Amino acid sequence: MNVTYACSQCQALNRDEVGPTSERLVCSGCGAEIKPPSDAWEGQHLTRCLVCPSTDLFVRKAFPQRLGVAIVILGFVASCIAWYDYRTELTFGILFATALIDVVLYVLVGNLLMCYRCQAQYRGVEGLERHGGFELETHERHRQQLARLAEVDKRQRSLSQS
Ligand SMILES: [Zn+2]
Ligand SMILES: [Zn+2]
Repeated sequence: MNVTYACSQCQALNRDEVGPTSERLVCSGCGAEIKPPSDAWEGQHLTRCLVCPSTDLFVRKAFPQRLGVAIVILGFVASCIAWYDYRTELTFGILFATALIDVVLYVLVGNLLMCYRCQAQYRGVEGLERHGGFELETHERHRQQLARLAEVDKRQRSLSQS
């Protein structure tokens, strides 16, 4: 399985093969090392994020959202042209086809595991069903925590300046 994460030091996007025997992650941008927590693995199963190391992970579709939106827009534009051309059947044919493509793609693509806190993405994960889907409540908790940390950081900085 592999992990995609943004380095907390230099924001570079990294993708690395990881497994229970991985001892560290090294950033390709700045060489910063991350030591995964020792209790991150239960056999082959990932129990917490290797990067941040939060235990809150959720399952989502590995479907690139931009691709989905692009298909819908393309279908809409094509159907408008057909409509302008007074080709009613073709118009609805195009709309139906693009909706169908979206649905088929959605079913075909696999799932990935994502960290609420640092947005690291894990692909090719075994035992995905052990993790739940997205929960707004957990997401909100992490978002507020991040906002609080940023606030503390700001205050400390202004204190050290005065
Ligand atoms: Zn880095
Ligand atoms: Zn994380």
